[in-house]
Amino acid sequence: MTPLLTALGCEGQVHLIIGSNPLASARCAKSLEVGAKPKIIARADADVHYVLAKRIEQGEVEWIKKEFCDEDLTTLGREEIDGVVDAVFVTSGGKSNLSTHISQLCRRKRIPVNVVDAPNLCTFTLLSTHSDGPLQIGITTSGKGCKLASRIRREIASMLPPNFGNAVDRLGTMRRRIWEEDHKTYQTEEAAPEAEDDDAPAQRPTFNRLVSEDDAGAAKTRRMRWLSQICEYWPLKRLAGITDADIETMLQSYSSPTHAAPVIRANATSKPQIILAGSGPGSPSLLTLATHKAIQTASIILADKLVPAQVLELIPRRTTVHIARKFPGNADAAQAELLQLGLDALQKGQTVLRLKQGDPYVYGRGAEEYAFFSERGFTPIVLPGITSALSAPLFAAIPPTHRSVTDQILICTGTGRKGAAPDPPPYVPTQTVVFLMALHRLSLLVDALTGTAGTADVGDGVSEKKHWPRETPCAVIERASCPDQRVIRSTLEHVVAAVEVEGSRPPGLLVVGWSCEVLHDPKGKGRWVTEEGFSGFDGMDFDGRLALDSPANSRPDAELDERHTETPNTSHALKQIR
Ligand code: SAH
Repeated sequence: MTPLLTALGCEGQVHLIIGSNPLASARCAKSLEVGAKPKIIARADADVHYVLAKRIEQGEVEWIKKEFCDEDLTTLGREEIDGVVDAVFVTSGGKSNLSTHISQLCRRKRIPVNVVDAPNLCTFTLLSTHSDGPLQIGITTSGKGCKLASRIRREIASMLPPNFGNAVDRLGTMRRRIWEEDHKTYQTEEAAPEAEDDDAPAQRPTFNRLVSEDDAGAAKTRRMRWLSQICEYWPLKRLAGITDADIETMLQSYSSPTHAAPVIRANATSKPQIILAGSGPGSPSLLTLATHKAIQTASIILADKLVPAQVLELIPRRTTVHIARKFPGNADAAQAELLQLGLDALQKGQTVLRLKQGDPYVYGRGAEEYAFFSERGFTPIVLPGITSALSAPLFAAIPPTHRSVTDQILICTGTGRKGAAPDPPPYVPTQTVVFLMALHRLSLLVDALTGTAGTADVGDGVSEKKHWPRETPCAVIERASCPDQRVIRSTLEHVVAAVEVEGSRPPGLLVVGWSCEVLHDPKGKGRWVTEEGFSGFDGMDFDGRLALDSPANSRPDAELDERHTETPNTSHALKQIR
């Protein structure tokens, strides 16, 4: 059975400490810290630890110079409880007869007792604690290892921002003041702040409900709910940055509680910032740490439609998210809308993350956006992302360069301006060509590459363009690194038929070149082979998803403007040969 962890109020209590060794000294120190009155029992000729001796000299600790006797338990305590002591600490002797005797006696009299090194004789044990003002963290391993407990305590404490106790204090003050003011105005039935336990259920079902302007009932408690929400969602570091002045501003900004909640910034000097970042091909594990951090800390995220749902799931719930409403014919308007949203947020002093799929500068209009914001006085920080152009071939086991096979990589688009087929690259046997945005007009592209009748060469008059042989191996790779990744291996001759039969699963790209055969021998494989599922992380001790560190990170659906379809988690690669 695990023990019930509680926090005991000990102010004014009498703690009886048997012994005068260093442990007794430490117990006295703890008792004094919590406002109790320690009394030690030890013979007049006992060795007294020097720190303890000092405390005795200063009158902080009372030394009763004698052997323990049973009556001590019921005579040395507070008068108002008939002299019964509030707790007993036996600091030496372990399983000696005296310790056992004291323990039994205490149990009978329901006096909490702790005996050093004798868990069976204790009715309570002390936790390894971290104290920072009102913030207390206690660890117990239920007697399995005190060194380990202390290590765990240190690790946990080191994760907190420095002096976090001050922040706890400030937020507590704010809470109390809001409660008092609201209570005066409305006589609300909300429990008074001090009546709440730390283990009270954190959220009621209405916690995230939107408070509308005319919802007077909800507006009453709006400030309190706002405070609860920032405590729940803001990063601790940001909470730690709240100053007394911030609290004043926030409290005063409510002449009437129907005002909107004010924005408190972590520090007064925080500047507007725009980060243009790539989110990688799909799997959250392929985000860079820099981008992941930006996702966690931005106040508003403007995401491309292609940014996969698993990456969007990492966005903390408190963060505003807009997903580009790009659909055919609306791309420019959607782009303009997103840029304007970014600009508005910057003008309000917010941190904006413009999240793009793959790498922001590879077919992502990244530089246009860079120019847009720079020209308006906000120069973006640009963070790279793993581009699908290189990672999709990798996850399909295609090395785009390979000694004596290919020594060049060409990344190009399969869609020209206004949707026309672009000028196809000439045949270079040692080249791997990766075509992005190529699948919806695959047949036109393949025709142009292979010089199939009906497509005219756009020769430059000097050298005649060489066409790609129809037997050149190629692969269509879709949703690379996502659980529903699919690879179709074929040749330029059959790839169009393959995609027609198999259908499409965007986003996808086409890889053309002899590198497609380096790790895959096509012999005896028919016109095409289809491989289902992503197994790029199989065998690793993580499943390719970042651990979501708190439930606060999962977002309610309603906050997404647009949803990506959920995908089944198929970790087994399935192969189908046609
Ligand atoms: N900036 C992105 C590319 C944007 S263009 C990058 O660096 O990856 C969009 C095209 O990228 C899609 O049409 C598709 O061809 C390709 N693409 C993006 N993600 C992909 C993925 N997970 N698997 C395969 N192709 C992908």
